[in-house]
Amino acid sequence: MKNPVQPFLQVCDLHITFASEQGGLQALQGVNFHINPREFVCVIGPSGSGKSTLLRVIAGILQPSRGEVRFSTTGANSPRVGYVFQQANLMPWRTVLENITLPLEIQEVPLTEARKKASELVELVGLNGFEQSWVQDLSGGMAQRVAIARALIQEPDLLLLDEPFGALDALTREQMGAELLHVWQARRTTVLMVTHSISEALLLSDRVLVLSARPGRISSDFEVDLPRPRQDSLRYSAGFVEKARRLRAAILMDTD
Ligand code: ADP
Ligand code: MG
Repeated sequence: MKNPVQPFLQVCDLHITFASEQGGLQALQGVNFHINPREFVCVIGPSGSGKSTLLRVIAGILQPSRGEVRFSTTGANSPRVGYVFQQANLMPWRTVLENITLPLEIQEVPLTEARKKASELVELVGLNGFEQSWVQDLSGGMAQRVAIARALIQEPDLLLLDEPFGALDALTREQMGAELLHVWQARRTTVLMVTHSISEALLLSDRVLVLSARPGRISSDFEVDLPRPRQDSLRYSAGFVEKARRLRAAILMDTD
């Protein structure tokens, strides 16, 4: 079926081969997909299937061996990309607020303006009262809130999230998923997120790309046509459970 909207991002015939002693390790093989403007897309796949590699190519950190990543942003400017990893990687000598303002300080945005934007994000990600805390005193979930706010302060065209809640306990993880949903519903940034959680992917995304075992290729492009706005309680509805069953089958079909 022809895509009716101009995609925000197109990944075309992407191949990545890393040099190795055995002569080359193929991480991605012929990956094709698109992301529409303001879409939330998740990537699920086994460990080592090239999920992080895919995000690095899209962020422009890694060159494709073959194929290309095409953005349809208007003008000559390349898109602004925000990146959040499994570990928050915060600056321990800075407070919560100072960690969030850091990207703008690097761009020499006036400090009063940077602090104003950071304060709005503190509110949005639920860090109220922690602005002046030192980051080493934060729990894992709170640290990831800071990392998400720090990525959002640049008003990215694309937010890349690489297993952002992978290091958190199960309950905190569910809570963070619900909060990310709230943040996305408020900001509507285009998002590409790697996760291992079927329910997290379904709660958040419009589509789930299933990557096969290495070399990674898209084995399924799974549409999540659950109504929005969504609430965390959606996880327990019959429609959601049925989708989870079908997505699980799509993932397992590839590993059999
Ligand atoms: P995932 O995030 O899905 O677990 P990665 O994208 O991290 O997988 O890695 C995919 C494969 O590529 C793995 O086998 C990994 O060891 C290999 N790989 C990743 N980065 C490099 C690199 N810089 N040099 C060599 N091999 C790499
Ligand atoms: Mg990874």
